[in-house]
Amino acid sequence: MLIGGIEAGGTKIVCAVGDRSGEVKAKKSISTRGPDETLQEVKAFFSDYKLEALGVGSFGPVNLDKSSDTYGTILNTPKTAWKHFDLLGRLQEDLQVPVYIDTDVNAACLAEYRHGAGRDVNSCLYITVGTGIGAGLVQNGCTFQGKSHPEMGHIIVPKHPDDSFAGICPYHGNCLEGMASGPAIEKRHGRKGHLLGDEKRVWEIEAHYLAHAIASYTLILSPERIILGGGVMKQKMLFPLIRQKVSGLMNDYVVMGDMNEFITAPQLDDEQGVKGAIALAVEV
Ligand code: ADP
Ligand code: ZN
Repeated sequence: MLIGGIEAGGTKIVCAVGDRSGEVKAKKSISTRGPDETLQEVKAFFSDYKLEALGVGSFGPVNLDKSSDTYGTILNTPKTAWKHFDLLGRLQEDLQVPVYIDTDVNAACLAEYRHGAGRDVNSCLYITVGTGIGAGLVQNGCTFQGKSHPEMGHIIVPKHPDDSFAGICPYHGNCLEGMASGPAIEKRHGRKGHLLGDEKRVWEIEAHYLAHAIASYTLILSPERIILGGGVMKQKMLFPLIRQKVSGLMNDYVVMGDMNEFITAPQLDDEQGVKGAIALAVEV
């Protein structure tokens, strides 16, 4: 029997089928339009397979409060066609299998924990630095959800002394996402991140914001490992810069161990989203 996985994002929805070991057997990327049009295509993809269960790693905010009448619905998203849409209910009805839903970043974290860069630890944090910034946490095999779910990308971070950029978060201006997401880099420097590889100042500022956030996450959550993914982290020189700054910020107060092991790259080649969605539906 097969397990279905959906990585539901604002620009694309990736559908996959895999087995209990996490191996992906088939995959299709569908562009995200209105819910009806998009989910018809999702249903058509899965109709070729006999599924046992389905996992969904969803863009958010999504209601993960199991006691709520609107569990599994999309909340206050700027994608207005999806606002208050009952994603869990619709997928259950369309596919007639049990559906398990979590945030996209929790799913990605679970995939790295089970099959990738976190498989030798009991707790890990996965941070994506891309169009937005978000983080998921897994401890002892369980993702952390809380009342709604954490929104770690929106914490406030101290300004870099040489940075006059105001930030682009529509809700908070200069929160972490407002200062350090891919679009923030592009707006601050006038060019996309992948064209700025040689500009040291760009990555010094970027590492400053990410290191401050990571220091806070470490003090609050104490994960055994922090995995940094997303498009912006393709700039590999960020890793040593961030490790050095996090060490400096912790200032020997907390024993950090080997920083190369503590802060690492993902290992699932951009498949952590769908592998994580599948993992949500697999009991271990
Ligand atoms: P999403 O977050 O939409 O799922 P990505 O994780 O690929 O997608 O993030 C896209 C963002 O990452 C864009 O703002 C893009 O400019 C930036 N980005 C992608 N590749 C690179 C790169 N090699 N270097 C720096 N920034 C990059
Ligand atoms: Zn914000």
